[in-house]
Amino acid sequence: MIELDGATGEGGGQILRTALTLSMITGQAFHIADIRANRAKPGLMRQHLMAVQAAAQVSDAVVTHAQVGSTELTFAPEKIKAGDYQFAIGTAGSCTLVLQTLLLALSHADGPSTIRISGGTHNPMAPPAQFLQRAYCRMLAAMGVEVDISLVRSGFYPAGGGVVVASVEPCAQMWQIALMEPGPCRASYAEAIVAGIPGSVGERELAGVGASMGWGEPQLLMQGLPGEQGPGNALLVTLEHEHVTEVFCAIGEKTVRAELVAKKVVDEARAFMVSGAAVGEHLADQLLLPMALAGGGRFTAASVSQHAITNAEVIARFLPVDIAFSQEGAGTGRHVISVTGTRKSASI
Ligand code: AMP
Repeated sequence: MIELDGATGEGGGQILRTALTLSMITGQAFHIADIRANRAKPGLMRQHLMAVQAAAQVSDAVVTHAQVGSTELTFAPEKIKAGDYQFAIGTAGSCTLVLQTLLLALSHADGPSTIRISGGTHNPMAPPAQFLQRAYCRMLAAMGVEVDISLVRSGFYPAGGGVVVASVEPCAQMWQIALMEPGPCRASYAEAIVAGIPGSVGERELAGVGASMGWGEPQLLMQGLPGEQGPGNALLVTLEHEHVTEVFCAIGEKTVRAELVAKKVVDEARAFMVSGAAVGEHLADQLLLPMALAGGGRFTAASVSQHAITNAEVIARFLPVDIAFSQEGAGTGRHVISVTGTRKSASI
């Protein structure tokens, strides 16, 4: 049984989700204590419990302490089963984070699967659905993992009610990739998503992005959703490069001015552009797991977050890999992240 400390490093939900994915794939059971110890409300929230229950269903796992508020858990999986799965978080908890827990596991099953999850699709501190579709799944595809994600309905805090549907094909062998340069930019655009709030909020957000980035109307897209999907607002900036797509997102809040929402996304996108790195902060921590499963990989990142460092530590508890972080050299803002397989694992 692998022993994990949920308070280590970032001390968030990713420690649990990464452990669930790798436990399913490698067949190794784990016990985790102090779940989400560094969060304002520690322990399992609905979203994390859903990830545990979904993983348990997919892998016939025996689980202890799976209840809201629990700060520890054991998870002992059997075989991963392909199938058609439906999960309802029941709150605005993030669909995309639950989905990410399952995608790579189901790609290790012996047949195709579909997953339908309801909950939040645009949450603070989680990937928006478009990030998974454009950024994360593009990287998985480059590694040979075929996943298709549809955003059926958007869901925002506090109402939730969003729906994402994913199809996952079995993948016999993942490929190692080196992603050192983003390549030329092929498309760049901003989208203001508004549901049940005045359209002028989205227009001001787009005006802010347009003025800062020097973008004209064709790159500034307003997406008005039916009022019953709200109230909700998200501002996305997508940069599609030859080798990678990045999606930056800020969630609008009642107390935060539209101009500030725009500034937040622009600042993130700019930091990425200026760095010249292949991937931004969030994609960096999320690429480690598929690269480790592929047995290796390398990329440049704009920054190295605590999420990335902590995720690397958890991954190394399950898989025979070394994950190294280094600054590229004086004068560049890039970090090089290398995932190196140290031996062939018998269990995957
Ligand atoms: P945790 O805070 O431990 O639950 O992990 C949150 C995960 O969501 C990490 O993988 C973050 O990189 C990811 N994440 C947070 N915000 C965003 C965002 N705006 N875009 C993409 N991924 C995000």
